[in-house]
Amino acid sequence: MKCAGTIDVRDIDESSINIDPIQVGGRLTADAMKAIIAYGDGYSVCDQCRKPFRLDYIKTPPVDHFHLDLASFVNMDIARVVPGARRGFQAVADAFISPGDPVLITALSHYTEVLAIEGRAGVIREIPKTESTIITADLAANKIEEVTREFHRSPVLLFLDHFDYQYGNCHDLGGIIKVAHQYDIPVLYNGAYTVGIMPVDGKNMGADFVVGSGHKSMAAPAPSGMLATTSEWAGRVFRTTGVKTDVTARTFGIKEIGMMGCTLMGVTLIGMMASFPHVRERVNHWERELANGRKVVDALRSIEGTIIQSEYPRKHTLTRVDTTGSFDRVAQTHKKRGFFFSSALKERGIAGIIPGATKVWKFNTYGMTSSQAEYLAAAFRDIARENGLIVTE
Ligand SMILES: *Cc1c(COP(=O)(O)O)cnc(C)c1O
Repeated sequence: MKCAGTIDVRDIDESSINIDPIQVGGRLTADAMKAIIAYGDGYSVCDQCRKPFRLDYIKTPPVDHFHLDLASFVNMDIARVVPGARRGFQAVADAFISPGDPVLITALSHYTEVLAIEGRAGVIREIPKTESTIITADLAANKIEEVTREFHRSPVLLFLDHFDYQYGNCHDLGGIIKVAHQYDIPVLYNGAYTVGIMPVDGKNMGADFVVGSGHKSMAAPAPSGMLATTSEWAGRVFRTTGVKTDVTARTFGIKEIGMMGCTLMGVTLIGMMASFPHVRERVNHWERELANGRKVVDALRSIEGTIIQSEYPRKHTLTRVDTTGSFDRVAQTHKKRGFFFSSALKERGIAGIIPGATKVWKFNTYGMTSSQAEYLAAAFRDIARENGLIVTE
């Protein structure tokens, strides 16, 4: 079946249990699906845009209130919508980094943070991780000292992922932010895997910036996201134009330079807004999500030779697992080779694992019902047993 022309119908989340780490938190709510049909046209939210002609002033639909809601949702002073978390990083990088400035990330940072810094010709330095794959305040302090000796000044910015994308491990946010502030280093809290799926309190953590991803964790279409900050930094990152052109002497009101004027002007913003009441509510059920994740993780642990590489017990629904000693061993002699695993999952209606992956892979149980989690747990055990692996009860 086709949507149009050569474009296939996409029904992965209707027909399967999807465990793709990057997709599960971004799936649209029914309200978002309805709203985006009406707002699919370009610039659709601009129907009622009046002076001073800026997105966050639009009253109908209530885009203005939505901005206030977003700021309070993460307990910060001011928020803007941005086309993806990466554009939030970029806006902050553009406002804080000059060529040659040292900038801190971590050994588990996302590539988009690297690109945001590289785009400003900043010099990247990584805070290493512990043997158990955690970023600690001690390691952060050491690295800040080291970088300060190297550059004769402290780093201008620190990008910190609360839960990293590789292991879904929880890093010492509070401790690291405290250390950074002792050196007057502003901290960007990367909530791509938190904002919209679990409670996030920016002020309480001491974050200077909170960045969230609409399409990763806020049930919104791509590309969408949010950037929030304190009143201390708002004037810098959301600075407005001051230019007067030479020939026509034009000025441009209060357009924000870092936002390129306006950001999300149609489906993305309306999708975010329509999902928001659901998203605000769902973060209160994080414990339930963790319980579902535990069922699946425990099933995998019961399969001989399987190693959970993420920290255990789990604090996030994204988990990295090493099945070199289990499913990959089966793959060595199986007639389908490495594809036996993804194809066995597919037969059971489970999607989102890279076909052929049997060594190290990731999954995310976010958004499942408890019976779906039990089904998935049983599926992993069954596939193991059917292929001669020992499964302990
Ligand atoms: C997915 C992800 C991003 C990028 O988010 P976008 O909204 O797609 O720009 C950044 N950082 C981390 C840790 C991520 O997992």
